[in-house]
Amino acid sequence: MSIRIYQLSKKIGITSKALIEKMKELEMDVKGHMSSIDEETAEILMHEIKPKVEKETVEKEEEKGAAKEEKKHKEELIPTEEILRKIQASFPLTVKDLALKLQLKPSVLIADLIKKKIFLNLNYNLNLAAAAKIAKDYSCELIELPSQEELILEEHERIDTAKLVHRAPVVTFMGHVDHGKTSLLDKIRETRVADREAGGITQHIGAYEVAFHNGRVTFLDTPGHEAFTAMRARGANATDVVVLVVAADDGIKPQTIEAVDHARAANVPIVVAINKIDKPQANIEGTKKQLADLGLTPEDWGGKTITVNVSAKTGEGIETLLEMLLLEAELLELKADTSRLAKGVVIESKISRGSGLIATVLVQNGTLKVSDIIICGKHFGKIKALINDKGARVDKAGPSTPVEVLGLNGVVMAGETFYVMSDEKRAKEIASLKQRKEREEKLISSIGKAKISLEDLYNEIQTGHIKELKLIVKTDVQGSLEALVDSLEKLTTEKVSLKVIHAGIGSINESDILLAVASNAIVIGFHVKMEAGAKNAAVKEGVDVRIYRVIYEAIASIKAAMEGLLEPKINKILIGRAQVRQVFKVTKSGLVAGCLVVKGKIIRGAHAAVIREKEIVFEGILDSLKHFKNDIRETTEGMECGISFEKFDDLKSGDVIECFRLEKIAQKL
Ligand code: GDP
Repeated sequence: MSIRIYQLSKKIGITSKALIEKMKELEMDVKGHMSSIDEETAEILMHEIKPKVEKETVEKEEEKGAAKEEKKHKEELIPTEEILRKIQASFPLTVKDLALKLQLKPSVLIADLIKKKIFLNLNYNLNLAAAAKIAKDYSCELIELPSQEELILEEHERIDTAKLVHRAPVVTFMGHVDHGKTSLLDKIRETRVADREAGGITQHIGAYEVAFHNGRVTFLDTPGHEAFTAMRARGANATDVVVLVVAADDGIKPQTIEAVDHARAANVPIVVAINKIDKPQANIEGTKKQLADLGLTPEDWGGKTITVNVSAKTGEGIETLLEMLLLEAELLELKADTSRLAKGVVIESKISRGSGLIATVLVQNGTLKVSDIIICGKHFGKIKALINDKGARVDKAGPSTPVEVLGLNGVVMAGETFYVMSDEKRAKEIASLKQRKEREEKLISSIGKAKISLEDLYNEIQTGHIKELKLIVKTDVQGSLEALVDSLEKLTTEKVSLKVIHAGIGSINESDILLAVASNAIVIGFHVKMEAGAKNAAVKEGVDVRIYRVIYEAIASIKAAMEGLLEPKINKILIGRAQVRQVFKVTKSGLVAGCLVVKGKIIRGAHAAVIREKEIVFEGILDSLKHFKNDIRETTEGMECGISFEKFDDLKSGDVIECFRLEKIAQKL
């Protein structure tokens, strides 16, 4: 008996082609699927091939299954991301207009907002941040339409590398009060400007330039890091190099450190002027050691910081300082294009009796000319005259040149950007648009301010908007400062790094808030108060300031914010304070503190804190309150009582127990 190949293939369960292949692998002579083989050979083939085929099939099936499983798994991994509809709008946008953009009836949007406890009327102006948050709930993403002004600014930013030429460095003096900033600025002006200029009259216009060797240096005549950072807070970084003035007879002081941090936050290189070397008490080496400790190791100590020994009194070292400034500037390769319309920043602005409004500006790019149409903030004008730092009328001013501008139609703010436009009508339009916008923005409450806050941190990290969380840390003593900075920086994760841009001792001041605005940072205080000016500035600018009394609490809340687990802010409202007079051991209830209520009320079940030498040693529920042996619900000022905590039995005489009412502040919109 014989059997055809195709019949055998069916018996085995494979195609005849596959069978022929297998037979060839076994070196058998086979012609085609119609050819026959004897029954015995067929039997052998069955035993030889069938198990293999079966094994292969199982493997294949397994592979298929695994692939399916993997695909399914992959599908599961892909988040079912909301599909966001993109909508363009210009801001401020009224609630009504937002509703229309979201294709909702305005009344529906208002009702939805009320459900979220947000009470706004139809004509309420929303800025981008606030509107974007609302829109997100309707799966819409808002995109701000670029304003006419932005389009013009974009044009100003366009660089034509072929036309770039060298420009002079702009220098600001910073340092501790009385270390000699003003004296140095005056001395430089006196020796380098007055002597050489006709008439020798020097004008104080907020900035001046000096010629030296083949170069020029422009000095901003408004010393102090607050002016420097105030400008930066408005978006203008006018300074190329900071001269840190340190008096050799006084060394590094708190404001020296503050100045260094402000300069570093702005990424501006520092040249150190060690001043007052004429004084017998001057300790140059001691000052250099302190500089090295600050991370500003002098070059002659093997570091990278240029230091120059100077005296504003005798003029010693001033020429070297100028030389070093030019040297530092060379490294920065400062360039500008003199052929284009000017753009720059306002340094000062004042009203003068004879000439009306005068703004001192620093040209940063292009050339400013008489008759140019200039727009600055919400004001504009045709330039009537330009006056240089020597009081002379000039026709034009190039990059890094300070000049007084006559012709603006209103007082502008220091730090505001100005730019020249070719078309007066458009300048007028933009200025009036900006005036309207400013009026409208004043109406916008603090909701949705663009500043970073701990509450928004998680979202900002998730969306990749923030890769570095900048912090300003103020504490009462050095020890806690180091500990806190250290622990905070350790919270750095792959997604976001934490950077303390300024750490200092003392209360939170206005300069801290300015630095926070300029650098988009959060202010962390530990055992410190906030100065009144700083409080106002923080509210006005929307800076998030957090004050803690326990280091652990500070770390935990930042960590929670990073993980999106931040509880809503809780306001503790003091209801009463008691002083522990004596501690008794009571067999049944453990320790009981005999207290005198010194302020307000003490209430059983209230949230309480135990304070020992200004440190909170325990926080929790006040579990038991007694008057003699009787349990009571509350007691008032002047009364004695027995207090005990279930979870804390380390009460000591002299401790203060404070009772609070906790009030949750709803998260910002
Ligand atoms: P600023 O607060 O940093 O602007 O410091 P000032 O320039 O107002 O100087 C403070 C005081 O130090 C003034 O009385 C100056 O006369 C004095 N002073 C500044 N530089 C020097 C210096 O190089 N040598 C001496 N002996 N006194 C100086």
